Amino acid sequence: MAFVLNGNVKPFEKKIYLSSPTMHGEELTYMSEAFHTNWMSTVGANINEVERIVAEKIGCGYAVALSAGTAALHLCMKLAGIKKGDRVFCSDVTFAATVNPIMYEGGIPVFIDTEYDTWNMDPVALEKAFELYPDVKVVVMANLYGVPGKLDEISEICKKHGALLIEDAAESMGATYKGRQTGTFGDFGVVSFNGNKIITGSSGGMLLTDDIAVANKVRKWSTQSRERASWYQHEEVGYNYRMSNVVAGVVRGQLPYLEEHIAQKKAIYERYKKGFEGLPLTMNPFDAENSVPNYWLSCAIIDKDAMCRQVRGENESCYISESGKSCPDEILEAIAKYNAEGRPIWKPMHMQPIYRMHGFVTREGDGRGRTNAYIAGEGVDVGMDIFNRGLCLPSDNKMTAEEQDRIIEIIRACFN
Ligand SMILES: *Cc1c(COP(=O)(O)O)cnc(C)c1O
Repeated sequence: MAFVLNGNVKPFEKKIYLSSPTMHGEELTYMSEAFHTNWMSTVGANINEVERIVAEKIGCGYAVALSAGTAALHLCMKLAGIKKGDRVFCSDVTFAATVNPIMYEGGIPVFIDTEYDTWNMDPVALEKAFELYPDVKVVVMANLYGVPGKLDEISEICKKHGALLIEDAAESMGATYKGRQTGTFGDFGVVSFNGNKIITGSSGGMLLTDDIAVANKVRKWSTQSRERASWYQHEEVGYNYRMSNVVAGVVRGQLPYLEEHIAQKKAIYERYKKGFEGLPLTMNPFDAENSVPNYWLSCAIIDKDAMCRQVRGENESCYISESGKSCPDEILEAIAKYNAEGRPIWKPMHMQPIYRMHGFVTREGDGRGRTNAYIAGEGVDVGMDIFNRGLCLPSDNKMTAEEQDRIIEIIRACFN
């Protein structure tokens, strides 16, 4: 019998979120400034300022403010020259927004399996993918949950094969690898200000580059590709992807709090780590020697031999409770009962119905035959193994230590 909790633990009156926006005050000042001066469009001081501040903070030449991280990734595909039928190597365990822009341009994503050290793209599998598909010229990799991947190895492999690297740092803003900010390791980088990210503009994103010509091209594309003429003159397809000056006001007000949010998220991660001592589960790993995550989401993975039976179909799951064991769905259900929000690990893209027929390259598989009958933990399909045994924990920076202790207690009870 698992999950027995004494009656002293009460449900939370106010829901504990996975990760929700945290406003401080300056956001309103900059938004009001835009309002009172009627700079309510996609031009204005807030946009100029956030572009300047982010480029300086991240240490890249230019940051171009756009309506979303997804828009930034789409323009990365345009910059990389992806055409219909081009294969693109892509992270497998990531949010769908990493992949969708490849599809917008008619590209064909080929998914690269994950490694256990940082839960990001496996350089060994990437190298193997280049053997299988030597013509590929673009790689898109994400830093999952704010943890930098093996960025040196990945960029080295891309260079060796003459491929462009696009770094999706949407979840990892403020994280560093060997002292350098994530988002600067690829030929183009992307950050996001979506509502659940470490800082937010309510929406918004940026494309990062060191090349002024690229920055100017992206600004032009994002404002319907108008040519310099007194009338509307067009030589290429354009997009309505520019950030609003109101959204930029929110981002501008949030930027000074990036470090504070990271410190709060780090404290949450460490409190979980300590609270789970003695339990058969570990926190999401990172390379402590070379990287500093932004700790956006705290996650955990259950030891193989402490997993109770859990079966997941396409849209539903069931599990069988067992003494001394648990599983992600039991834990998620237990904390939801107490009004706290966790989430399963992002389901691998190669297992999504829309991408079922796409290539998926693992360290050991042949890269063509799909391994739906994966063998947990044997390196055959690392992404599915992490999906099955891992979960995202409530990581909201407004959660108090006392509230987090209650969540830890609930999770401990799942292993009773
Ligand atoms: C949030 C997210 C994006 C997309 O950013 P939006 O601003 O929401 O469009 C892209 N990639 C990853 C990995 C994300 O988590």
